[in-house]
Amino acid sequence: MYSIEKSKELFARAQESIPGGVNSPVRAFKSVGGTPLFIKNAKGAYLYDVDGNQYIDYIASWGPMILGHAFEPVVKAIQEYAVYSTSYGAPTELEIKMAELIKSMVPNVDLIRMVSSGTEACMSAIRLARGYTGRNKIIKFEGHYHGHSDSFLVKAGSGVATFNIQTVPGVTAGVANDTLTAAYNNLEEVKALVAANKNEIAAIIVEPVAGNMGCILPQPGFLEGLRAICDEEGIVFIFDEVMTGFRLSTGGAQARLNINADLVTYGKVIGGGMPVGAFGGKRAIMEKIAPLGGVYQAGTLSGNPIAMIAGYTLLSTLKNNPNLLSELDEKTAYLHKGLEKVLAAHGKPYRINRLGSMISVHFSDHDVIDFATAAAANNDKFKAFFHKMLEKGIYLPPSPFEAWFLNNALSYEDLDRTILAAEQSLGDI
Ligand SMILES: *Cc1c(COP(=O)(O)O)cnc(C)c1O
Repeated sequence: MYSIEKSKELFARAQESIPGGVNSPVRAFKSVGGTPLFIKNAKGAYLYDVDGNQYIDYIASWGPMILGHAFEPVVKAIQEYAVYSTSYGAPTELEIKMAELIKSMVPNVDLIRMVSSGTEACMSAIRLARGYTGRNKIIKFEGHYHGHSDSFLVKAGSGVATFNIQTVPGVTAGVANDTLTAAYNNLEEVKALVAANKNEIAAIIVEPVAGNMGCILPQPGFLEGLRAICDEEGIVFIFDEVMTGFRLSTGGAQARLNINADLVTYGKVIGGGMPVGAFGGKRAIMEKIAPLGGVYQAGTLSGNPIAMIAGYTLLSTLKNNPNLLSELDEKTAYLHKGLEKVLAAHGKPYRINRLGSMISVHFSDHDVIDFATAAAANNDKFKAFFHKMLEKGIYLPPSPFEAWFLNNALSYEDLDRTILAAEQSLGDI
């Protein structure tokens, strides 16, 4: 009998001293209802909650656990380095090795700065683009999530979309006014914004493959069109690769889609499960960052040695074994095919979007190509599906506005179990 009594107890206790009982909103299960599971431990593709239930994990810590939980080389490296001290606040050779490794993997990065989260990376990249161009405004896309810094909380994806927050209290009108938004995959809207704000736009920031409103692919020509606009108008083109970086390929979306960005931001996979982000790009732009230039950006724990060795170990494993990401892509394609079959048999409308190991299911009778079409899907049906899957030991992201994150510790048996669970869950909703 499936029981989550201990999670319920912990959730009640957590709410006494942590806002909403969680330290990041989507974890609260608010949009799907029910009690968030408190996790005890994880290994490979499996999560174990405090009640002893086992789940096949499709969150992978929202990306970082791309080779599975407690991946031994990463665990060993952390153990080895922890005894030397966990932080110095002074430079280490490890930071150089990390920067060199990333430069060897991804295109268009001359200089790269480490930070402690994806939020920090995106926030810093925007400040840098503003400092570099001397312009104030930015263009972002509806339903895209670039972390929780003020500029980005306008028509944002992820938790902001999940909780249907239209305007975020605490973000001033001045900041909001400098953030222009367009529909993803709509080049005409971008052109109109650029024309109406001539020489005022510092940057266009995009999730090259959107993952914070479910997974949504760029339509052919969209990213190329943005690249051309940025070139013509002197706008800094920023790829937010916090989700796609080191997942879509060892060179990220830039390499997989063959498009150059001026600045790129990283997070999630880059830290191997430790708090790491990074932003990097063309030398002429990156040289404006302090101490070379006047655009100030700093961090007490930036380049932290334990975080660096965890990230370095994971990234070098991916670099040296390109088969790992292609195996993961194949597994995701297998899941895609299996889900396609059971959803088609179920007979209710659905759309599956996928690129590589990013995938999501929308219960929708129309193609999902932007935020409006994602929001118009039958998201109540997703909630019911989510809970049925959870009871069967399949841990999906607790929101239709999130991509599923596969990890390469998943076996084909796990995938078959997931497809069977989907078939049974669909029969019940
Ligand atoms: C997760 C995410 C962020 C924010 O990263 P944090 O480490 O949570 O601050 C930014 N951009 C994208 C595309 C993300 O998926």
